[in-house]
Amino acid sequence: MSGPQRQAASARPPPIPLATLIGREIRKGGAAAGETSLACGHAGLAKRGEDYFLIRRDCHRVLRGCTLPFSVFAVFDGHNGASAAVFTKEHLVDHVLGAIPQGVSREEWLQALPQALVAGFVKTDIEFQRKGEASGTTVTLVVVDGLTVTVASVGDSRCILDSQGGVVSLLTVDHRLEENVEERERVTASGGEVGRLNLFGGKEVGPLRCWPGGLCLSRSIGDKDVGEFIVPIPHVKQVKLSSSGGRLIIASDGIWDSLSSEMAAKSCRGLPAELAAKLVVKEALRTTGLKDDTTCLVVDVVPSDIDVLPPTPRKHQNNLRSLIFWKRPQILMNKLSNKLSSVGGVEELFEEGSAILAERLKTSFPSKTNFGPSRCAICQTDQEQAEDISVNSSPYFSPPSRPWDGPFLCSVCRKKKDAMEGRRTRQPLLAT
Ligand SMILES: [Zn+2]
Repeated sequence: MSGPQRQAASARPPPIPLATLIGREIRKGGAAAGETSLACGHAGLAKRGEDYFLIRRDCHRVLRGCTLPFSVFAVFDGHNGASAAVFTKEHLVDHVLGAIPQGVSREEWLQALPQALVAGFVKTDIEFQRKGEASGTTVTLVVVDGLTVTVASVGDSRCILDSQGGVVSLLTVDHRLEENVEERERVTASGGEVGRLNLFGGKEVGPLRCWPGGLCLSRSIGDKDVGEFIVPIPHVKQVKLSSSGGRLIIASDGIWDSLSSEMAAKSCRGLPAELAAKLVVKEALRTTGLKDDTTCLVVDVVPSDIDVLPPTPRKHQNNLRSLIFWKRPQILMNKLSNKLSSVGGVEELFEEGSAILAERLKTSFPSKTNFGPSRCAICQTDQEQAEDISVNSSPYFSPPSRPWDGPFLCSVCRKKKDAMEGRRTRQPLLAT
């Protein structure tokens, strides 16, 4: 060793023991993954007994022999009977998870989740409709993995986020015909009629509904008797909370017909989740009385380095009206592990609400997975592609659907796709 090299060697700090290095790596890995703990509360009041909810805090996926935790929460608001809500509660999560490739990294898992949610919702709808029952349900399903929150919803059960700093934002879109002009146009273009209930004498009353069937919603699971243009394709939004965590409030319209997002968030700030859920229901009841089934879940996502969510500073509550999202370009979606600045805000990772399946099933999953070319991207069953061609050329659906350049669909799911898009060709839409 020459003189300068020896000098440099002698200036180095003493070697760090291996155990210390390993400890540092473990802690660093935990922080990078956004380790969190969850606190959850539920409250509800039944009027018709068609609201259901789901809390699964102990879900795991397996990667290289390690089990990695995540949690799922959901609210189902049934109509025309409870069977669609019950069926969806029992099967939806398994159908979603079944559409995610095994053994993928966390980054790939989170990236696959939005498409898997679409597949799981559509599969659940197909299976429920096979039962031949008329009932339907809204669904708002929330997957929490560390600080990443993914929300999928059809119907009008909302999920809001009260982030630290008192910023309240809506993570869902209401699929109500009355309030959603895009959905009205889609339903009309697909062959449905939208209008109010007509009383004797021609007087119109109540909210806009879809005919036949008279449903006020434009998306749901079930509703076989209404029409295939009432689609089960969810709006999906994926966000990463800031390092200070946040509170999710997931509730049926029994809450949201009484309280705004801000009112619901404010009514329970600083209180533990269990008590918070009760207070939101109580506040809704105080405002309008019990008019509908009312279900509320409160989920606190608490970073592991703090015990509970700190109370939100009151002085900021009125100044911040909308959530500051750090929207990243789609092209960077495969770099989820890169940290972006998100101090005091929430980073938006993904949002898509199109009801057209071709726009929702675009991504090819990583080639190292065990998904073969003839596995249906929706129901995950294997089918010979030759069968599929004969179905596509079937004259039953007229006019034929637009060319499909998405992943492989089996004959059943292809029929479903065509039916959801309606028998009319899409054309420039007229305002109603
Ligand atoms: Zn299929």
